[in-house]
Amino acid sequence: MARPKANARTAIVRAPQKKPQLRCRPHLLALTPYPPGRPIEDVQREFGLKSVIKLASNENPLGVSPKALAAIRKHARDAYLYPDGNAYYLREALSRHLNVAPERLLFGNGSDEIVVWLVLTFLAPEESIVVSEHSFIRYQMGAQLVGARWTAVPLKNWRHDLPAMAAAIDARTRMVFLANPENPVGTMVARREFERFMKIVPPEVMVGLDQAYYEYVSDPDYFDGIDYLERYPNLVVLRTFSKIYGLAGLRVGYAIAHPDLVTDVERVRPPFNVNRLGQEAAMAALEDTEFVRQSIDLNKAGRDYLYGEFERLALEHVPSHTNFVLVRVAREGLTGAQVTHELMRRGVIVRPMGGYGLPDWIRVTVGRVRENVTFVNMLEEVLGGSKENQK
Ligand SMILES: *Cc1c(COP(=O)(O)O)cnc(C)c1O
Repeated sequence: MARPKANARTAIVRAPQKKPQLRCRPHLLALTPYPPGRPIEDVQREFGLKSVIKLASNENPLGVSPKALAAIRKHARDAYLYPDGNAYYLREALSRHLNVAPERLLFGNGSDEIVVWLVLTFLAPEESIVVSEHSFIRYQMGAQLVGARWTAVPLKNWRHDLPAMAAAIDARTRMVFLANPENPVGTMVARREFERFMKIVPPEVMVGLDQAYYEYVSDPDYFDGIDYLERYPNLVVLRTFSKIYGLAGLRVGYAIAHPDLVTDVERVRPPFNVNRLGQEAAMAALEDTEFVRQSIDLNKAGRDYLYGEFERLALEHVPSHTNFVLVRVAREGLTGAQVTHELMRRGVIVRPMGGYGLPDWIRVTVGRVRENVTFVNMLEEVLGGSKENQK
């Protein structure tokens, strides 16, 4: 069908003449919108590139699992119908998959959104949260959203310093957010450390344990947050379909928590926050164990390759339990942001870390074999000049 032609009047995009008289709530003025990884289409347009690879947002390089894709196709025709606001079937499927009661589950438009619901439900302006320095910036932004304060505890050897985080909890603290593994660093804390931490945290302080990369971790000292829900009703475990399940574009995340806590958050959650195709695709993705296994294997091999190449190039990097690696790329006169820009001009999108207080570093998602090789070649080219200067 031909598109209706825009007439001359509507085609002219004018800068607005009048300014709105509405005033933004003052505590929001300190919030700058989250800087996401640049979309492929954007970079193609700006630099006139045919092919661009994106290693910036920790998406699954294998794409959408065949089973999920089939489910999306099958249910596309139902897109005119509102989704099931209770996500009944996904709830049932996940309840069986995780072996938790259905009423312990809370669904979000990505787990990112659940952080916002938690904050709106439990955090008042005069209160505060505790996070790690350089941590996933969405937790701190949650506090800023309600005008609350946050304490950022320095990492120790690139890992959460749990004793220091526990010590940072004071009478005003209502929540602690702990990404394990940590993003953007990729390190993890072990079961024993977490157990000691949970024993110290007061029961009226919520602990948000974000396990977005749970399925990638193979370390025997790692743990499943679900094992602690019974003992600690102040614990909220966050998981997502955006990473290993390859559905970042459909936005499905979830939390597992005490049913009373879920009931409280349900007061805030908009009824149709998880869309119909997302629910169907997530259910199918859960079943696709072969895809998950392939993703783990591809990731492990890719990570090992990157470590080897970073060593060859004498680039400091942090061993990771996830599908990304933090690497220090700053050379004389080149910051992480500049390296990111130079890589982008060459068709490789990575994530600069200045916004996380790590201006000398970039975070690169482990891609497919060919993507990793291209990234390393381009990085070597970008760093080549200044490396020569150093000799
Ligand atoms: C990617 C990621 C998420 C998941 O975000 P979604 O909103 O579910 O896509 C949550 N936490 C961390 C630490 C992440 O890296």
